Amino acid sequence: MVKRQPKVAIAGAGMSGICAAIILQRSGIDDVTLYEKAHEVGGTWRENTYPGLTCDVPSRFYQFTFATNPDWSQLFSPGGEIQQYFVDVAQRMGIYDRIRFGTEVTSARFDGQKWVVCARGADESRVDFLISATGVLHHPKIPDICGLDNFTGPVFHSARWDHSVDLHGRRLAVVGTGSTGVQLVTRLAGTPAQLSLFQRTAQWVLPLPNPRYRQLTRITHRAFPWLDRVAYRAYQAAFETFAVGLTKPGWQRRFVAALCRANLRTVRDPQLRKALTPDYTPMCKRLVMSSGFYRAMQREDVELVTAAIDHVEPRGIVTKDGVLHEVDVIVLATGFDAHAYMRPMQVIGRDGLRLEDAWRDGPHAFETVAMPGFPNFFMLLGPHSPVGNFPLTAVAESQSRHIVNWIRRWQRYEFDTVEPTRSATEAFNATLTTAMPDTVWTTGCDSWYLGKNGLPEVWPFTPARHRAMLARPKLDNYELRTVAPLAQQ
Ligand code: NAP
Repeated sequence: MVKRQPKVAIAGAGMSGICAAIILQRSGIDDVTLYEKAHEVGGTWRENTYPGLTCDVPSRFYQFTFATNPDWSQLFSPGGEIQQYFVDVAQRMGIYDRIRFGTEVTSARFDGQKWVVCARGADESRVDFLISATGVLHHPKIPDICGLDNFTGPVFHSARWDHSVDLHGRRLAVVGTGSTGVQLVTRLAGTPAQLSLFQRTAQWVLPLPNPRYRQLTRITHRAFPWLDRVAYRAYQAAFETFAVGLTKPGWQRRFVAALCRANLRTVRDPQLRKALTPDYTPMCKRLVMSSGFYRAMQREDVELVTAAIDHVEPRGIVTKDGVLHEVDVIVLATGFDAHAYMRPMQVIGRDGLRLEDAWRDGPHAFETVAMPGFPNFFMLLGPHSPVGNFPLTAVAESQSRHIVNWIRRWQRYEFDTVEPTRSATEAFNATLTTAMPDTVWTTGCDSWYLGKNGLPEVWPFTPARHRAMLARPKLDNYELRTVAPLAQQ
């Protein structure tokens, strides 16, 4: 039997979109178009260019297994180097030519047989499969602080860094103490005349040194590519061992907590140490990694503001205790709307079912990749995907392989459309909910990991379980349909 060739559209050419396109291509599926609203690949790595941006997953693990890079400069590489890696991979692996840059998918509708994809600046296209690869940390969250527009100096979000603003000798306010705020403060301390960090919630900080790789290491990795594979597996084993601490109480939690507490003790001033001490279990919020943060916070020219922000006036930030903190520049390191996923893109599935309605009670998915009522539609890094401190490159790879396996079955005429059943999705979501009480995310903090109605936004089991689930889908959980007489040969 001659296999049929599908037409596939991928929305987004960030890390996960590139990953899926390459895996599809390596499986002989060539008719793939990536729609990218920007003019370069890379997604979050393209958009984030703030000073100090570093991936806190080791580079030898935060990379594709099919395109390892022997030339990483550091254990944890800077953002620009990671962005260049994704550009190089997309070009080297022949994906670049399939990307329609400057073309944002605005809507996608299932017409009973195929997906009709509408994108700004492109003709309507009908495809057999639609893959959403629009990222999680994508839409900057601008806090609703009264008077922000009245501030006379520059104000920008960390993901929209304004490189034209010279910070030397000025007074800088950083709002937010997530990974971004901590990286910013660590790098920028000493550049502005005064740096004020506005902290709403203190963070646990795990100290991690970031050594540079020697030239000899790079030469050796280039000569012996198997070293990259060994390093990848070693980091994977280590991460998976510690990841257990996220989802089950155990020695991992105690070990990480001990390291964080020891790090905190390096803050000499008891008052500052108290102000930097979180009131929840380490790892409840995403663990922040930094070796230099507490050193930066102890500088004379760095100030920690713990009073809540009341409003912004033209000269600076006024806190609830009535103090005006006069500043020249405000940086909002306030995170992202992690619950938006592919929205504002409109997705309309079978019988006119709108994603907005399907997600009225919050985003949810079957096995992190699919949705009932949305045939031949798959998500990368969709709801409940393992994120936290686990490398999303690995998650995108296993999700892409799962999708390719479905497309291969379609090529063999096993079905025309596939979607998970509603009952399987409900049972899957119930399993996720019952796992939550054991996780560290429910030990007394607030974070975007917690969805509505007790449903976790992230994966509450081990990464290995996620991989195994996607590698062996149970057919009973899916509805396979034939929509027209199949032209079998
Ligand atoms: P984030 O973790 O969501 O942190 C946002 C910070 O802004 C929090 O401290 C939050 O306080 C604060 N905030 C939000 N609204 C505020 C308001 N109205 N007033 C005062 N403070 C406010 O954001 P992020 O640091 O940008 O990180 C986002 C995600 O990016 C992280 O989960 C992480 O996965 C990823 N990231 C990864 C790396 C890496 O190296 N791999 C680097 C940077 C970021 P509360 O805690 O009180 O809400």
